[in-house]
Amino acid sequence: MLKIMAVNAGSSSLKFKLYEMPNEFVITEGVVERIGKEDAYYTIKVNGEKVKQVLPIKDHAVAVKVLLDDLVDKGIVKDLNEINGVGHRVVQGGSYFKDSALIDQEVIDKIDEMSSLAPLHNPANLTGINAFMKVLPNVPHVAVFDTSFHQTMEKEAYMYALPYEWFEKYKIRKYGFHGTSHKYVSLKAAEVLGKKPEEVNLITCHIGNGASIAAIKEGKCVDTSMGLTPLEGIPMGTRSGDIDPAIIEMMCRTENLTASEVIDILNKKSGYLGVSGISNDSRDLEKAMNEGNERAKLALDLQYKRIADYIGAYFLTLGRLDAIVFTAGIGENSAHTRKEILNRVKALGVEVDTDANENGKGIRDISTKDSKVKAFVIPTDEEIMIARDTVRLGKLQ
Ligand code: ADP
Repeated sequence: MLKIMAVNAGSSSLKFKLYEMPNEFVITEGVVERIGKEDAYYTIKVNGEKVKQVLPIKDHAVAVKVLLDDLVDKGIVKDLNEINGVGHRVVQGGSYFKDSALIDQEVIDKIDEMSSLAPLHNPANLTGINAFMKVLPNVPHVAVFDTSFHQTMEKEAYMYALPYEWFEKYKIRKYGFHGTSHKYVSLKAAEVLGKKPEEVNLITCHIGNGASIAAIKEGKCVDTSMGLTPLEGIPMGTRSGDIDPAIIEMMCRTENLTASEVIDILNKKSGYLGVSGISNDSRDLEKAMNEGNERAKLALDLQYKRIADYIGAYFLTLGRLDAIVFTAGIGENSAHTRKEILNRVKALGVEVDTDANENGKGIRDISTKDSKVKAFVIPTDEEIMIARDTVRLGKLQ
């Protein structure tokens, strides 16, 4: 049996999940939050119970040390040599990485180069990689990119109609994100349909605080809604999704803001939060809507309509559709969201089974028996994909 650590390092957090592989058993999981503060949080699950500590954690290197020392102290591993490999989530792999990659200096340099396209994410991901590589230098480390699954898009899907030199000089194009999640749920959906991934056409809807849609033809991504950055596409918890870009210049002028300030508003103060003025959380908005709040309803409806528009467009791209898949926080948990979206795309031949949509847990079919296009809920699991790729690329089988 192997022990594989899956890591997701953000700018001030570090999430981890330790697996026993290949049986995919979760040994433990947890998170270090507020890295850089005197009162950082370290939470780990021990025998199913969450144990939380508040302690100073200066940087990611300290976070990694605290975590690994604690694994030994708690007897979760006898010594660190028991960890056979570490998989790291990396947000932006650019055009370089069509698959996950075994990390060496060249891979590190490319992730660093791609920081120009993902200045908030890649440097944080690299900090996590460096910290773990220092403590565990003799095991394979594997980078798993949010962008890789979307690398099969044709040029006509990923190019913007902008001056071509911007693409050549600055690599401006659509990359897409949440690729690990879209890939995971598409593989599961093929399993549920009893077919091979290359036999099915799917539209996968990852709807969480961040949200994106992907069109998957015969197992390969052919289009996705996020772009150069995660700002493009459908409205999200705090992001606007697609807008007329001229709005940016107009708001700079009228409110005396810089372009960066407007982009910050589009990223952090728009979407559910901006339209409703209440919250970025779908649960708060559904509650407010049920109490008669019109703007909460509008914030949600705006997103449902836009998702339905994307599904319609992707249906035409695919030509034939086997199933629409819902995943992530909202996609997995909000029956209202799924019902509203599926009712808007009825014309495709999808019919919701109200009972299945509103009740039930885990992987499930929420369409009626006669529905021409199926609709599934499939809980995502990005960490298991990271662990699997670490075993595969680290040649640990
Ligand atoms: P992130 O993009 O941060 O990973 P998540 O996938 O965790 O986001 O999704 C967060 C969203 O999921 C929030 O809007 C939250 O309201 C929603 N969500 C989580 N659980 C439920 C639930 N039981 N019912 C409705 N919405 C839920």
